[in-house]
Amino acid sequence: MSVLVLGSANLDLVYDVDRIPAPGETVLARGFASFPGGKGNNQAIAAARCGADVRFVVALGRDASGDRLAEEARRAGIDLRDRRCDAPTGTAVIYVDRGAENSIVVDSGANALLTDLTAAERDDIADADVLVLQLETPLDTVAEAVRTARAGATRVVLNAAPSADLPPGLLGDADVLVVNEHEAAALAGLPAGADERSLLAVLTDRGAAAIITLGAAGALVGVPGAAPVLVPGHRVEAVDTTGAGDTFVGALAAALDRSGDRTPASLVDAAAFATAAAAIAVRRKGAVPSIPTLEEVLDFRG
Ligand code: ADP
Repeated sequence: MSVLVLGSANLDLVYDVDRIPAPGETVLARGFASFPGGKGNNQAIAAARCGADVRFVVALGRDASGDRLAEEARRAGIDLRDRRCDAPTGTAVIYVDRGAENSIVVDSGANALLTDLTAAERDDIADADVLVLQLETPLDTVAEAVRTARAGATRVVLNAAPSADLPPGLLGDADVLVVNEHEAAALAGLPAGADERSLLAVLTDRGAAAIITLGAAGALVGVPGAAPVLVPGHRVEAVDTTGAGDTFVGALAAALDRSGDRTPASLVDAAAFATAAAAIAVRRKGAVPSIPTLEEVLDFRG
């Protein structure tokens, strides 16, 4: 049993400011801190903390940020399959003002160079039980990884985030699509705010299971040809929802890998586990620091 995450890693550079600078303006920060981030990295750490045996295929720069991300991933117990590229490690510069409003600039850096999977990377995909992908990696690579998984028995969890125009067929080829409500609306071609059951119907019409995460309300799970199942959210005091979606996806992958079962009921069980993991994460600050361990999720569920 194992999970392979193929995706992005960034170093998040977070500046606390009184107000976000206007064009041409310089402001002094009140504080600064840097954190590992990127959807792939967060999801790999979430799957590992939730008990999965995780490999992580990622492109990093040959720089101190890349060394730091690699070291933290290894410390989380991840079997890192990092490519070192002639580009800086991805970074996100984040300004957060006193009202918690933020402004973010992302440089994909090395993440944009994760192209043309190597034979070893394709073997790793074929060996895995569950492959987890997001859209911060070149879409051709995502499509190639899906094709490689489909050629074998690897189950594909595609987190179609951030929103992007997907190559035709990709959605139907993933076993489980995971999106939030905004991404679901964009993919379904319906207006933001459309009813979530209508969105789910459009997504599952493409022939694969889909999960729409609904923030505090939990998650709606759909399997083609069956009625949708609502997994209710847990009532918690939300302190910081950063990384909730990534915790959900990583925890879901770990639960699917553990059960090894491909029935609709096991997908609902895995979504219930992921909903609990994500609820714990929103009670704590930060993305990676807030991700719970398997023991914490089991305790929380009682
Ligand atoms: P994203 O962060 O990607 O926009 P959501 O906001 O839908 O995704 O959150 C992902 C998951 O995190 C939800 O399905 C839910 O399980 C959990 N979650 C998010 N916000 C809360 C909250 N306020 N209370 C409890 N659980 C939450």
